Amino acid sequence: MNLKRNLPLQILLALILGGGAGLLWPRGHVLPGGFEPYALFDFLGALFLRALRMVIVPLITGSIISGVASAGSGRGLGRLFTRTFTWYITTSLLAILTGLILVNLIRPGIPGGVPVGPELGLTLQDPQMAAQLQQGSASDLVGIIQRMVPVNPVAAAAEGQMLPLIFFCLLFGIAVGSLSPEHRAAQLLFWESLFAVMMTITGWVIMTAPLGIFGLMAKVTATSGFAAFLPLLKYGLTVLAALVFHATVTLPLLVRLVGRLPAGRHARIMAPALLTAFSTRSSSATLPLTMDRIENGAGVSNRVTSFVLPLGATINMDGTALYECIAALFIAQAYGVSLGLGAQVVVVLTALLASIGAAGIPAAGLVMISIILDAVGLPLEGIALILAIDPVLDMCRTAVNVWSDSCGAVVIAHNEGELGVLTDIVGNNHQDPA
Ligand code: ASP
Repeated sequence: MNLKRNLPLQILLALILGGGAGLLWPRGHVLPGGFEPYALFDFLGALFLRALRMVIVPLITGSIISGVASAGSGRGLGRLFTRTFTWYITTSLLAILTGLILVNLIRPGIPGGVPVGPELGLTLQDPQMAAQLQQGSASDLVGIIQRMVPVNPVAAAAEGQMLPLIFFCLLFGIAVGSLSPEHRAAQLLFWESLFAVMMTITGWVIMTAPLGIFGLMAKVTATSGFAAFLPLLKYGLTVLAALVFHATVTLPLLVRLVGRLPAGRHARIMAPALLTAFSTRSSSATLPLTMDRIENGAGVSNRVTSFVLPLGATINMDGTALYECIAALFIAQAYGVSLGLGAQVVVVLTALLASIGAAGIPAAGLVMISIILDAVGLPLEGIALILAIDPVLDMCRTAVNVWSDSCGAVVIAHNEGELGVLTDIVGNNHQDPA
């Protein structure tokens, strides 16, 4: 698995080499023997994108159902469930709003009033579609809520309609959690195994990321030269600014105000897990460390730890939520489309759902952007715009995802009446107030 451990380095190299190769052999350049490098770049990039899309439906199905179902049942758990979900939804929405405000203020997709899409070789093919998009009315929202309920969940999965699929999986997971112990165990085993299988396949796909990213990067620079990086810089800084604000202002404030707990001390305890999240780019891979820090470092009971954190690693992703919103609006701006209020509300809601549906693995958030682009009718190729800078942003958003889970765990434990949270007497808090 050495291959995987070196992945961030390989991806970095792929970015540099791909960028260089594209500059060296621009589109249309033919090498002796009639070989056109651009065709190879295109092939590698398209293959990688197809492989990512191949895993998405079974992966999110297994991830959501097993995560929600393992929450269990009973009155005490019901209350824990409500508190946990309230934390997840509230913090994710606050994160998205931070992103929404910053992307509208900074407008990274329209530097100097000119959309960057055409500069990067991407334009809207259909002028009628562009006009339609600009209207962005509240009827979009009504439509999307309606479409969230699938007429046929199997068809939704087969057609890759993510929103109805996520909605159905959430319902399914809740229903599994309420079954009798033997039925629940049988269901859980299946869905957890499916999730494990899909994580394995996704791992394989991710190991090919350096090749795919090489191809995609080379394609961008082969089409548009170095100009490709500058527009992305402003976009990257917008995402980073929003992440920093959410992690250092919003979440610590909530820890102080709602949990009346020392946020600084909590951050020090969590540092090893946050750094692991940063370097692995995976909330799921970091989970054992997060649980250890919360239970043995912050003194949260095993009951709260084992409920809040595994679920959080799968469905609570503040960093991803915020990133989805900024990325989708950046793509819209880059195409020269200004989304109206209704469409922006759709973006907020779908960003929330996309962050719930994203698995805790590297680049999961990148793939989920297709849900938002779909919902507002933007072309999926827009994702190609932001690919180059994604690995770095993935590192940062994954750390914020884990940070939010951990803040949720200490606040919820405190609200459940646990007394030893973030005090000096840690590691022995096993009371069960239920
Ligand atoms: N890598 C992120 C995580 O594991 C998900 C994402 O790609 O946004 O939390």
